[in-house]
Amino acid sequence: MNDLTAKVWFVGAGPGDPELLTIKGQKLIAKADAILFAGSLVSQTAMRWAKQDCEIQDSKGMDLDAITDWLIERAKQNKIIVRLQTGDPGLYGALIEMVQPLDAAGIEIGVVPGVSSAMASAAAGVESLTLPEITQTVILTRTEGRTPMPEGESLHELAQHHCTLCIFLSITLLKKVQTELLAAGWHKDAPILVVHKASWPDEEKIIHGTISNIREKCRTEKVNSQAMIIASPTLGARQWSELTKSRLYDKNFTHRFRKAEKIQEKIS
Ligand code: SAH
Repeated sequence: MNDLTAKVWFVGAGPGDPELLTIKGQKLIAKADAILFAGSLVSQTAMRWAKQDCEIQDSKGMDLDAITDWLIERAKQNKIIVRLQTGDPGLYGALIEMVQPLDAAGIEIGVVPGVSSAMASAAAGVESLTLPEITQTVILTRTEGRTPMPEGESLHELAQHHCTLCIFLSITLLKKVQTELLAAGWHKDAPILVVHKASWPDEEKIIHGTISNIREKCRTEKVNSQAMIIASPTLGARQWSELTKSRLYDKNFTHRFRKAEKIQEKIS
């Protein structure tokens, strides 16, 4: 780990299962003198790999200044510090707000990406977020709550693309999600996947529904936090009888690493 010279590392812990931490993240946690973790979802990941004498603190209840002061104070003592965040640190993680005060204090930082809950939720449901000729685009978004959405990014505007939508931070706003998808022309019976605590052993809940019944299903399952909402024309493709196959594995399709069989035949 000679390349890892930074003092404060923002590490993506992954969606919850400690085994979904990256190897680089695991090495940094094992090396850290202090770990500040965000929320209960990642605490087990920190505990599993940290040194015995590592200072481990939950940032719950700390505001931004308290967090950056905590990190700066320890960095100045020449410690290796990990700020452990759920999923990937670059998605809804206030990364830049934390990085700027560290930059101002002249502290070297590094970021280690993580498996986002969007990917873990698709994996939990054995879904592909893209499918040939169905959609080749994924939008990671949220509905407007206390954080206002920038112009042109309301859910009904984004949903007009009819591509895959991974909707974060919105499980308590399912009614709004329904209304906006319908306003964008989605059919009321279009499939919706909700995954609560994706990848968490024994706690993951997978709810298959439609735009019209997903709220009721989530209510019945008591899912009202830590959940990903996926709306996509690809959902349920595992059961489709007709599927346009990806050209990636098509024997008549040549790409950089594999020559098409026909060409190979001509050559030989
Ligand atoms: N950086 C994180 C997102 C943090 S915002 C990431 O990349 O996943 C928090 C939101 O992420 C939650 O409201 C929920 O929508 C989603 N989320 C985080 N962990 C989750 C999990 N294990 N299962 C489902 N959704 C999760």
